[in-house]
Amino acid sequence: MLQVDIITLFPEMFAGPFDTSIVGRAIESGIAAIELHQLRDFSNEKHRRVDDTAFGGGPGMVLKAEPLISAVSHVKALRTHTKPHVILLAPQGRQLKQSRVVELSEMPAVTLVCGHYEGVDQRFIDTEVDEEISIGDYVLTGGEIPAMVLVDAMVRLQPGALGDADSAGTDSFSAGLDGLLQGPIYTRPERIGDMAVPDVLLSGDHVRIEKWRREQSVKRTRQRRPELLEDWPE
Ligand code: SAM
Repeated sequence: MLQVDIITLFPEMFAGPFDTSIVGRAIESGIAAIELHQLRDFSNEKHRRVDDTAFGGGPGMVLKAEPLISAVSHVKALRTHTKPHVILLAPQGRQLKQSRVVELSEMPAVTLVCGHYEGVDQRFIDTEVDEEISIGDYVLTGGEIPAMVLVDAMVRLQPGALGDADSAGTDSFSAGLDGLLQGPIYTRPERIGDMAVPDVLLSGDHVRIEKWRREQSVKRTRQRRPELLEDWPE
């Protein structure tokens, strides 16, 4: 079972995504356990304050190290069976790739820390954070949406999370596709105006279908993401 703890100033943001569809069902059925921790609960200050201005000046508030350190200690004390892998969501982190999602999804416990405002005090990162992960080269207001992205990607890889157990293995970037993009897919009806489904997909010949899908996958990858073909075993 995947255990995820999320440290955030805005736990209410997670309600919709974590209650719905595949992630919601995985949590309900015990495939994944996700616990939200309100960072303000770890403040020792008046009005449960957790931020302050940046030394050296400049705009924006910085999340203080002490409440973040206390929150991570609290999570570590809860997860006695294993040492949680602590991830800070940060635009300066390593960009998330499916191969890393697979590795993280196999870890027994992951703790996600959501920054906000200008970011977090470096001393928290230096002492508590195992890894910084970015979801792309753009800046969001907080780490909550990146945390949702990472949780969604990890949960759907858990055994039993997807209805059709094979479907994650044919997705873009998966090992089943050697990390390439998936080719075009179709469903009923067979014809829409003058647009027909490729004949091969209606042939019932699974060897030909697989060969066609493979060719389409390589073609699409070459067109859209040629750099993915560099590591490809051809
Ligand atoms: N001042 C920071 C910088 O220049 O790198 C940006 C801070 S951002 C406004 C606030 C928080 O949102 C960050 O601490 C991080 O947790 C989260 N965040 C923003 N963009 C992100 C991204 N692309 N990937 C992951 N987390 C992100």
